[in-house]
Amino acid sequence: MTVLRAGVATDIGRARDSNEDRASTRSNLFAVADGMGGHVGGEVAARIAIETLQTGFEQNPTTAGLRQAFVAANSAIFEEGIRVDELRGMGTTLTAAGLTVGADGRDMMCLAHVGDSRAYLMSRGELRQLTSDHSLAEERFRHGEMTEAEAQVHPQRHILTRALGVGPGVDVDLWELHVSSGDRLLLCSDGLSNEVSLEQMTQVLASVRDPRKAARALVDRANAHGGSDNVTVVVVDVLVGEEGISGQPVFSKVLPASPSMSPPPAVPQEPPASGPAPSTDGGLNPMAPVLAAGKPKGASPDVTGVVRAAAVQTLVRAERPAPAPPTLPAPKESRRARRLRLGAPRRITARVVLFLLLVLAVPAGAIAVVHWYAMDNFYVAIHQAHLAIYQGRQGGFAGFEPKLVTVSPVSTQEVMAFRLPALRSTLDEPSLEASRQYIANLHEEWVSDHALGSPVGP
Ligand code: MN
Repeated sequence: MTVLRAGVATDIGRARDSNEDRASTRSNLFAVADGMGGHVGGEVAARIAIETLQTGFEQNPTTAGLRQAFVAANSAIFEEGIRVDELRGMGTTLTAAGLTVGADGRDMMCLAHVGDSRAYLMSRGELRQLTSDHSLAEERFRHGEMTEAEAQVHPQRHILTRALGVGPGVDVDLWELHVSSGDRLLLCSDGLSNEVSLEQMTQVLASVRDPRKAARALVDRANAHGGSDNVTVVVVDVLVGEEGISGQPVFSKVLPASPSMSPPPAVPQEPPASGPAPSTDGGLNPMAPVLAAGKPKGASPDVTGVVRAAAVQTLVRAERPAPAPPTLPAPKESRRARRLRLGAPRRITARVVLFLLLVLAVPAGAIAVVHWYAMDNFYVAIHQAHLAIYQGRQGGFAGFEPKLVTVSPVSTQEVMAFRLPALRSTLDEPSLEASRQYIANLHEEWVSDHALGSPVGP
């Protein structure tokens, strides 16, 4: 049995004009989401993340369920961003800890993480960071390109390499953790970790017993240090842990359980004829349909596949009538033969006209369908270091090449760097207006980030 007690504190900080952080403190699920995006985008993304997470984990309170809830949250945010122009491009971090039962029947915590909101564990007086930020600086540190100290102060530590809702798929880091009585779990947005050192956090957590007061004290520290960002802190105390588990907390990374859990390949591939059924993981748990329905990259290739198949079918159908002509006038064979023999002009009957019309109309229709499909799409991509809107399918379709509609004045230097990979892979937009809005949101996000001044230094 495990008994937890949690406290939460959130604050707008000293520099921002809205709080785009959200938290969850359900009795078995704790989370912090730090939203981003123009206008209300950040708030909406963080709220959807927390709500989808809570619903998902409620349906399936397991480690797999937590991962699926993250995937579902990613899809929900991404789809809402496509549906509503003002929300285009919104995203959020999400770091969550859920209470679940391990394979051995004992309680444990599962931990999932995307972005730069962090989880720490205070055990026997020592505070340890559990998560690794999905930021450019952190990844450079992991790849040995800079030291930890350099990464901590590097300007690129704010540039996220992963966030929820900015793309159709997401890679979720997942761990399982056995906690003991007296352990203290800390979840926080970067508004805390950027302002307050590990030593200061340790000191507060070691001295303030009540989790709510401890969370509040940490937020106050961040504000006292400048409060350049929204600050959200969740402190979870393990009042009673599983008996018999003592010593070092067991902390292990969970690898993706099945290939369908990880983001599908970027390039849509033809399904192998003898391949496994698409829903091998379906039916095992209640979240499976949500996962299948929301499986993000599957969505666009599937649609493409359907349309492409329809177009091919139309083309095939168009070719099929071709061998038909001999059969149509067949009963009149002798008369036709006689006319030909006599050199008489061939009579154009209604049937021939109809037949000719069919033969001509079907390919024309097919071409129209293909053309409509090929051009009924917009996307934002990079053209000569500027954001540009194209009409058509990326890479062209059936000989119809995409055309450059407009080059925006926004350069690649004027959007957040973490958006650039998405712009290079390019995301489809339903309309020209949606494309314009997307560019506007990306630029606004960059402007608001720079207007506030980088917390890095003067
Ligand atoms: Mn933040």
